[in-house]
Amino acid sequence: MNISFIGLGNMGLPMAKNLIDAQFNVTGSDLSPSALEALKSYGGTVAQDHQQLIQNADVIITMLPSSESVKSFYLGELGILKSLKSGTLIIDCSSISASVSREVASVAQNLGIDVVDAPVSGGIMAAQAGTLTFMVGGTEAQFKQAHPLLEKMGKNIFHAGASGSGQIAKACNNMLLAINMIGTSEALNLAMQHGLDPKVISEIIQNSTGANWCIEKYNPVPDVLENVPSTQGYVAGFMTDLMLKDLGLSMEAAAEVKSPVLLGALARNIYTLHSQNGHGKADFSSIFNLISKV
Ligand code: NAD
Repeated sequence: MNISFIGLGNMGLPMAKNLIDAQFNVTGSDLSPSALEALKSYGGTVAQDHQQLIQNADVIITMLPSSESVKSFYLGELGILKSLKSGTLIIDCSSISASVSREVASVAQNLGIDVVDAPVSGGIMAAQAGTLTFMVGGTEAQFKQAHPLLEKMGKNIFHAGASGSGQIAKACNNMLLAINMIGTSEALNLAMQHGLDPKVISEIIQNSTGANWCIEKYNPVPDVLENVPSTQGYVAGFMTDLMLKDLGLSMEAAAEVKSPVLLGALARNIYTLHSQNGHGKADFSSIFNLISKV
């Protein structure tokens, strides 16, 4: 099977490597020459132009930064959609607006091309280890078609629902994660202000009804856990600016159906402030420093 992989950044490159390691023919494209060199060193082929990406592709996978980049790649003036052969499968793993995912899928459907949105949870380490969680939007048949490829790059692969549902699932998950991280930081800081040891209060909460992933696996207070960003100077990890981007997508999803997201909106404002204070590149758990005013 021939796969064209577009967007070989922090996430895309290790995902493409896992496909190459699983014996797929991967032809890649990126704006960065060093990413292309790395792809070549893993055994992939570098596309010289769009034509080479399209001509033999059975599957197109994109892992691009934004809604705009995905829309322009598929539907823009030089967009590739109209040049793809009928029967091609598109898997877009980028985190983007659900409405753009649905738009690309709808144009593609009229050309006999299948599209699934398949954004991921799990960062660079999960991409390298092939343990990403995929949230897939599309028909049951499209989900089944994409599954054998996704399982080479991920561990948990969910069919979220119709086209765009993968993006909605991701937006909901990350909105809750942001709220959890801020709430966890607030609770831990309050306990510490009263003189409690952060390790002790973390263990108490983890064994009580406030238990959550941020406390257990990604504690925002330095030195409570080993090998997490807070203990390593808040080096990302998952950057504040990427969380902010995802919170923007959550707000867009909420506006579309007039769903109230009171805490989500507050979380977005808190992360906006944190980014404007110069912490956009720091891990998102560094929000603890805003709460504790370090
Ligand atoms: P990145 O910026 O490292 O990589 C994006 C790559 O796309 C870059 O190498 C860029 O050169 C390339 N690119 C942009 N436009 C292109 C074009 N027209 N043609 C070819 N290449 C192009 O970003 P990333 O961290 O790999 O994130 C990719 C996507 O995954 C984003 O949508 C992000 O929100 C999502 N995501 C990231 C993480 C994470 O921890 N980094 C986790 C989950 C989801």
